[in-house]
Amino acid sequence: MPASGHVTLVGAGPGDPELLTLKALKAIQAATVLLVDDLVSEPIVALAAPTARVVWVGKRGGCKSTPQSFIEKLMITAAQEGEAVVRLKGGDPFLFGRGGEEVEHLLAAGVRVSVVNGITAGLAAVTSLNTPLTHREHAHGVVFVTGHAKPGDSGTDWRALAATARQAKLTLVIYMGVSGSAHIQSELLHGLSADTPVAIIQNASLPQQRHAACTLGALHATIEQEGMGSPAVIVVGDVVQGLLAAELPIQARAGM
Ligand code: SAH
Repeated sequence: MPASGHVTLVGAGPGDPELLTLKALKAIQAATVLLVDDLVSEPIVALAAPTARVVWVGKRGGCKSTPQSFIEKLMITAAQEGEAVVRLKGGDPFLFGRGGEEVEHLLAAGVRVSVVNGITAGLAAVTSLNTPLTHREHAHGVVFVTGHAKPGDSGTDWRALAATARQAKLTLVIYMGVSGSAHIQSELLHGLSADTPVAIIQNASLPQQRHAACTLGALHATIEQEGMGSPAVIVVGDVVQGLLAAELPIQARAGM
């Protein structure tokens, strides 16, 4: 079969439709088929044409997520049939969104691909609280890191990361880290001090957004006490000191 078809991987941002890029909006409106990930909010999908075919491929409704190979096959077939295919992903498609793998598979199948950036959740989360990820006095850079390892992979080397973050003054933004927070906390404490400020932000940019701030030594306890759950990012570093200062009651409850 000759090379044909086109797929656009579109970053839907953290959830608030107003945080979409114009390019993302145009691609969504022009799509005839949309394959939508778990964390994409419904108001964003509602921007698609009423005639567009929407396929939810996430874990909504308690179902298991659609296998990656099936999603890729679906995209390739639809593109080859001449559909305007949009693969809609939460945040940015190239940050923990398997966008890289999808581009490789689509290109191997002879399907043309383009990618539209989205605002990544970790950035939107702190911005919504008027907090930066870098600051000339507190952080020289930022690391986006996953708390969730691929099966069989030993995962992030938290001790090395903690030492580097301390020495190089880096903010850590941890995705998918809430369920592993006890382990992450104890490993990070090998390189960072227990009083390092931490913020946990859940459902960033959505009406149900909430956050808690504490010290690294109280991270897991605070997540448990506050009932913080996915989707959430954990931000570690002096840039969130102001959020911690505003939350002294929570700190007190966490036994600090
Ligand atoms: N590509 C996405 C990340 C996908 S991994 C991006 O760039 O944002 C999924 C993880 O992203 C979640 O487990 C959570 O850690 C984070 N996340 C996604 N949406 C979020 C939101 N609205 N608020 C807080 N964290 C979010």
